[in-house]
Amino acid sequence: MRVFHLSAECYPVAKVGGLADVVGALPKYQNLLGLQAAVVMPYYDRKFVHENEFETVFQANELLGSQRFYFEILKEKTDKLGFELYLVKIPGLLDRENVYSYPDETEQFIAFQIAFLDWISWSQQTPDLIHCHDHHSGLVPFLLYHSRLYERLAKTPTVFTIHNGQYHGAFGWNKLSLLPEIDLTKTGLLDWNGGINPLAAAVKCCWRYTTVSPTYLEELTYNSNGLEYLFYTERAKGSGIINGIDTEIWNPKTDPMIPENYSVRQLASGKQKNKEALCARFELAPDKPLISFIGRLVLEKGADLLAEAIKNSIMAHPGEINFFILGAGEVKIQEELLALKELYPTECNVFVGYDESLAHLVYAGSDFLLMPSHVEPCGLNQLYALRYGTVPMVRTTGGLKDTVIDFGDGEGYGIRFIHTSVSDIIHAVGRAATLYANPPLLQLLRKRMMALDFSWDRSAKEYIDLYESLKPAI
Ligand code: ADP
Repeated sequence: MRVFHLSAECYPVAKVGGLADVVGALPKYQNLLGLQAAVVMPYYDRKFVHENEFETVFQANELLGSQRFYFEILKEKTDKLGFELYLVKIPGLLDRENVYSYPDETEQFIAFQIAFLDWISWSQQTPDLIHCHDHHSGLVPFLLYHSRLYERLAKTPTVFTIHNGQYHGAFGWNKLSLLPEIDLTKTGLLDWNGGINPLAAAVKCCWRYTTVSPTYLEELTYNSNGLEYLFYTERAKGSGIINGIDTEIWNPKTDPMIPENYSVRQLASGKQKNKEALCARFELAPDKPLISFIGRLVLEKGADLLAEAIKNSIMAHPGEINFFILGAGEVKIQEELLALKELYPTECNVFVGYDESLAHLVYAGSDFLLMPSHVEPCGLNQLYALRYGTVPMVRTTGGLKDTVIDFGDGEGYGIRFIHTSVSDIIHAVGRAATLYANPPLLQLLRKRMMALDFSWDRSAKEYIDLYESLKPAI
């Protein structure tokens, strides 16, 4: 079965968050299970595209409203990522550095989808199934089934995965003319709340949709930024499949991005050496418990609470605990955290920015990883933390609920709290400090979490089973 994954991000080509990690790993693991999975994504002006060789496999002109645009499909020559990688290059729209945040983002992703559909309609590249990820490719199911231009492919099943239901890519009806010729009796399928909503259109038109954890599937019916009723009515079409992690990249035994490799055997000494390297770089004390946060500094991640919660925790445990934050996002949150670092230089440090190798060091060198998320569709950070023997401290929501068991419960290994609130975080920090003061228990939990299997093998198989279930209808 030949499957095309359509996504705005894919690691290591271009990464902003977890979407990239998933799309960079899932097809590789699916191919190991006998599928023919490929990734199609926009071209970005990034290191990966300059350091690797590509060949042009298709080129054409298409219309975006009244503007004609030229595009090329480039294929990475060696399939070194474990799957075929295709990039859609459109001069002026898809050849820039950033993935998101351009003022013409709507045009950018509509053009991406038009180019993709044009390519598969006119070339020999006919997929058996198209797997779209998030709203950036959310119009594909609608266009495939309701535009006469793509009639030849209209029986192709589509699966749509929601990595983040808070972002919909919505735009006004005044931009309808950007879409190719469609069946105008079907425009209701594009509509949500008076606008064109690609995420809603995808959920309505795809054959099946998935969320990246079972709990998130339910949560969308009461928290999805206005789409609650849609998720409630379409619930029968949905299923939740928990993300895996790429255990080749995220492996403390072989990770080239950390100074000291370790397995369960040298767990305590291995972690300590990484902690010493991290603490030396950021002027923290390697003999104190280190609680870190990695992620986008936005409300979704509970980052708005960090400064207040850390300040209060430091006051409650003066000189006893260290904190480290790696992230970028809202300016106000960044400023609050930088001010905190000024106030408590020996207890808290902050790195504002995106740094992939520093993230690896933080997973390896921290004792605890804090995730006070308001919303967490799956969350990969806690899975990386588990793999590196770092205790996740998570709010009980979405994928965090599905993957972290509190150490107070049976065979548990993490710290869970119920509310995204300063007081719950402070309470969790207190539990972390008590746990740190009990090295045999901490060691037991670390061993327990490192033995867990969150590799892609199981989840990749679940996606394949879902594809297979759509086969008789093909
Ligand atoms: P998101 O909602 O941001 O996609 P996930 O938990 O699914 O959250 O994935 C986040 C991914 O991005 C992880 O691989 C994490 O290590 C990485 N990440 C987030 N912020 C940073 C940063 N500032 N520097 C390096 N890596 C980061």
